[in-house]
Amino acid sequence: MSFLEIRNLTVQFGGLKAVNDLSLDVKAGELRCLLGPNGAGKSTMLDLICGKTKATSGQILFQGQDITWLKEYKRARQGVGRKFQVPSVFKQLTVLENLEVAQSRKAGVLDALLVFRTPVRGRIKEVLERVGLIEMIDTHAGNLSHGQTQWLEIAMLLAQDSKLILMDEPTAGMTIQETLKTAEIFNTLKGEHTLIVVEHDMQFVREVAERVTVMNQGSVLADGSIAEIEADPRVKAVYLGH
Ligand code: ADP
Ligand code: MG
Repeated sequence: MSFLEIRNLTVQFGGLKAVNDLSLDVKAGELRCLLGPNGAGKSTMLDLICGKTKATSGQILFQGQDITWLKEYKRARQGVGRKFQVPSVFKQLTVLENLEVAQSRKAGVLDALLVFRTPVRGRIKEVLERVGLIEMIDTHAGNLSHGQTQWLEIAMLLAQDSKLILMDEPTAGMTIQETLKTAEIFNTLKGEHTLIVVEHDMQFVREVAERVTVMNQGSVLADGSIAEIEADPRVKAVYLGH
């Protein structure tokens, strides 16, 4: 059984099939990169998996359960976490407070009242060490650099206990050093978490992914190792000129 199994997924916006009869399997612990030119349907795919957008037809099975029609917040509670391109941290709160909010989201409103009484700080510290932000625990999120803000968001998904982490262009706007550090963080998440990462930076893709899926016009154009993808003439035609 695949961790995530997508069967013949289609979403139609007016006359456009942004995702068109797409099937995809992702194994537990895998980090899959999703590539493709602008408008290929990559962000829409992540929207469909997390429930931000409802499918027109097809099926999404998460750990064997059909979540195609489940509401977004219910998918989040089951462990589907999405990081958007625009950061969704609370700038006026500290790093620690942002993580407490993330944990309470997972817990639900009633449980959230109890969260602060339970020994959850250990978990928060562990998550912060993982993304290299432990020194910034009392810093207001508004004072973090661009890269640190992205890492805080990753930490928030971890604090929420996301099992499947969906990320849209996480290294966009990062310096080379920040990109390298992000690759390091991702490499520590693999195995324990399953990740689908939309990414344009091929250097980064080579650092983190064993297998990539290339989309074009809402469908899978090619799927395989980075070497296979780079040698594929169809991929060269649509993507590498991009
Ligand atoms: P990518 O992330 O690969 O660049 P997107 O998933 O953002 O591509 O978009 C795929 C196609 O679907 C594009 O043609 C885009 O204009 C269209 N699209 C995306 N979201 C919507 C929407 N909510 N309504 C109408 N068209 C949309
Ligand atoms: Mg996109």
